[in-house]
Amino acid sequence: MEALLDIRELQTHFQTEAGVLRAVDGVSLRVREGETVCIVGESGCGKSMTAMSVLGLVEGPSGKVAGGEVRFGGRDLLRMSRHELRTLRGHELSMIFQEPMSSLNPVLTIGRQIAEPLREHLRLGRKEAERRAVELIREVGISRPEQIAGAYPHELSGGMLQRVMIAIAVSCKPKLLIADEPTTALDVTIQAQILDLLRGLQEKSGMALLLITHDLGVVAEMADYVIVMYAGKVVEEGEVERLFREPRHPYTQGLLRSKPVLGQVREELYSIPGQVPNPLELGAGCAFADRCEFAMDRCRRQEPPLAPVGSDQQAACWLHGKEGQHE
Ligand code: SF4
Ligand code: MG
Repeated sequence: MEALLDIRELQTHFQTEAGVLRAVDGVSLRVREGETVCIVGESGCGKSMTAMSVLGLVEGPSGKVAGGEVRFGGRDLLRMSRHELRTLRGHELSMIFQEPMSSLNPVLTIGRQIAEPLREHLRLGRKEAERRAVELIREVGISRPEQIAGAYPHELSGGMLQRVMIAIAVSCKPKLLIADEPTTALDVTIQAQILDLLRGLQEKSGMALLLITHDLGVVAEMADYVIVMYAGKVVEEGEVERLFREPRHPYTQGLLRSKPVLGQVREELYSIPGQVPNPLELGAGCAFADRCEFAMDRCRRQEPPLAPVGSDQQAACWLHGKEGQHE
């Protein structure tokens, strides 16, 4: 089946005083209809920037998509005009972010903000859009929807606001929702509720989800397929159960070791030693070498390519693959 979203060799660069920063450096990934793909990695690994690039939201004079291909439903997003992209966003392709407050207009009521895309994309009349907005508020699990429709953003809690953002995002029945850390700012109970809500909406509508998170608990809950990013690149990917059972890249292994296990008290939470490298100072070899307990000479000289390490799993590490075992 052809992928709904098909990203190939994406490059997103920023011009800085110290040189070109490759925030996204050759990322390829696919999301099929109805599927949930999670991009996971520490902050600064390029996962948000990958999403922003897809959405045409890399802005400013210093940043740009410098190469690659992004196809959505067979259409080339990188060659669309601003207007075409705008029409697509919020309709067939929607998004939610970590901070709902920053996406909402503080001086407009919730009902009005949900009704607006319905009027714009579906051409509903004012009354019809307002009625539908109230229904959507109910569908995302908010009680007293009429009253909430008349409220302003500052009157709602963080969890409620994220529900409102989801209502806006799904209002035009998108084929794909891109969610960047949608539960990170929320407390644990609310997080679980929001994830349940997303899953429920997916079951009803068949929408696909590209979920960006640093939280492996969220990945375990939600993902069909996982993309692990490090320093702007995909370092491992695979079907979720396989990847959790048998992570092959030392970085993925480290992430999994640092994940708290439910119901298990740990003396100390493991964290991967060292820091994410400055992307401007990356040398020729593996970007993870300075933090990797298995690093060999070769790792510092030559960059490992992403290569198959079994069925439906790939890793970029010299420990795997025929050539990698021995030099
Ligand atoms: Fe570690 Fe080498 Fe594999 Fe990089 S290529 S993750 S340094 S073993
Ligand atoms: Mg981010």
